[in-house]
Amino acid sequence: MKKSRAVAYVLWALGALGLGGLHRFYLGRRTSGWVYLLTLDLVFVGLLLDYKLIPAMVDEANRALRLPPDHSQAHLPNIVVNIAAPAVTAPRVIVHEVIKEVVKIRCSYCGQLTNQGTPKCDECGART
Ligand SMILES: [Zn+2]
Repeated sequence: MKKSRAVAYVLWALGALGLGGLHRFYLGRRTSGWVYLLTLDLVFVGLLLDYKLIPAMVDEANRALRLPPDHSQAHLPNIVVNIAAPAVTAPRVIVHEVIKEVVKIRCSYCGQLTNQGTPKCDECGART
């Protein structure tokens, strides 16, 4: 809830009746609130002090209140998560490795090694 100066000052005024520090509880300052409550507003010195400090303390309390909801929500990125599985699976690529066996034969005329598939000898031109 948003803190108002009016409420803070009403609670602060109760310090004059011996109920010190209620405005500090209201503004989320529990530790100093207890100190004020148990020491009659630091023997009323705190009462005078807080008369000036309340506006700043209210603003600070409201800033602290706003921070978690406003900023955390505002800065949340929009993340769209696609849970659906892909409809088309990537095709499997099958690599056929073709091994060509090159067999060489010896030319019956010149004796040089030449490829089996070739009709003529590379060296002498004779038919293999
Ligand atoms: Zn030959």
